[in-house]
Amino acid sequence: MQLVIQNLNKTYANGVQALKDVSLTIRQGMFGLLGPNGAGKSSLMRTIATLQEADSGSITLGDLNVLTQKDEVRKILGYLPQEFGVYPRVDAVTLLDHLAVLKGIRQKGERTDLVNALLHKTNLWNARTKNLGGYSGGMKQRFGIAQALIANPKLIIVDEPTAGLDPAERNRFLNLLSEIGENTIVILSTHIVEDVKELCTDMAIINKGQVLYKGSPADALAEVSGKVWKKAIAKAELEAYRKSHHIISERLIAGRPVITVLSEHSPEDGFERATADLEDVYFANIFGHAKPEPVA
Ligand code: ADP
Repeated sequence: MQLVIQNLNKTYANGVQALKDVSLTIRQGMFGLLGPNGAGKSSLMRTIATLQEADSGSITLGDLNVLTQKDEVRKILGYLPQEFGVYPRVDAVTLLDHLAVLKGIRQKGERTDLVNALLHKTNLWNARTKNLGGYSGGMKQRFGIAQALIANPKLIIVDEPTAGLDPAERNRFLNLLSEIGENTIVILSTHIVEDVKELCTDMAIINKGQVLYKGSPADALAEVSGKVWKKAIAKAELEAYRKSHHIISERLIAGRPVITVLSEHSPEDGFERATADLEDVYFANIFGHAKPEPVA
């Protein structure tokens, strides 16, 4: 099954054009949708999740028309929104069981088996009788995945799930997602390049409502490989370099600015060729036609 998005457009009532002619084909596995805040990721995720109308374009999931056959799509969709609220005074077992009833699983034994399996899968078994209000950020996110998996979805959408998680929780969460991605379409929307780098087989970079890149992370890297140059400079030189070079990123390393430039040939003495990183691809796309955010 594939999710095919064609020429999708959305302009909000305030005139913001959040999606501009977006076309993407998303296969089974983990798909990373990468872009800065305000890029249009949530607008796209909400539209795919049947929660928002598009102005024009089409989305199909297998044989289903996502924009018109909403009830059918919802039966095979798991959605974890950016702000995922839980009932604080209920434990995981009780809430999952209740949600399973709402999903139409009437037989008690079947529900118990399912809830237990989900709690094990999401590593929440030991915390199953604890009230959700006492869960950490990572546990809440994993609970979000457990509830999204109740319907055995064919498509799972997770919107910015790792924001606010500590590194160990983030790892655990991403590993869980990649396990699920083995037989489902999982769309991970994020502004964190690392999230996409390690796990996604396909990706897209979006900014200001437009798809700037689509392909595999490996192909993205190959595009800039050998063209990434870095140089540590003095803070006082930064302004001059901004004028003379097309800088794609500026970072402080041990208090000194390190600038990155994309170029076929060595920009000048002092620049060293660096191993391309997915972050370089990201910045090259995002800041390809604009100035980077200054570091100082
Ligand atoms: P992202 O998820 O990548 O941060 P969003 O899809 O939330 O991006 O937002 C894309 C753009 O659309 C932003 O400029 C945002 O301010 C605007 N936007 C999002 N939702 C609405 C809305 N309901 N009404 C008006 N503008 C919106």
